[in-house]
Amino acid sequence: MNQEDKRQLLSTAIAKRKHDYQLVLEIYCSQSGCSVREITIHVKDHDKTFVPHLRKRSLVCPVCGGTNIIVHGLETALEAERQDDASARHSVNRQMLTRDRMAQGEDCAFLTAAEFGDDRLPPTPPGWFPRPRS
Ligand SMILES: [Zn+2]
Repeated sequence: MNQEDKRQLLSTAIAKRKHDYQLVLEIYCSQSGCSVREITIHVKDHDKTFVPHLRKRSLVCPVCGGTNIIVHGLETALEAERQDDASARHSVNRQMLTRDRMAQGEDCAFLTAAEFGDDRLPPTPPGWFPRPRS
């Protein structure tokens, strides 16, 4: 990580930390010879030590110890949860669309950008969550 990347990470960390003490950091090890790729770090910064630690130290890969780390994202826990939920909806919608097209004998190898990015929450089928009898 070069100085500009570190400065950007610190700036983002300071801004995000103002909104939430729980952060999610996505990093990528680009060290040659290391098979680790995406690494997710969940931060609970009750004592406000996260930013000072970032200032003092370099991010390292937990497997190879390399410092060729690329930051893919730093979000508050709420932002990360919303993104995870949207990704889950994307996945379900793509599976439903593929299943329905295959059932109609259509080729489902390619989805349009709108179909691929659809993160609407599908309607709950009738009877899917039966209410317990009281
Ligand atoms: Zn590594």
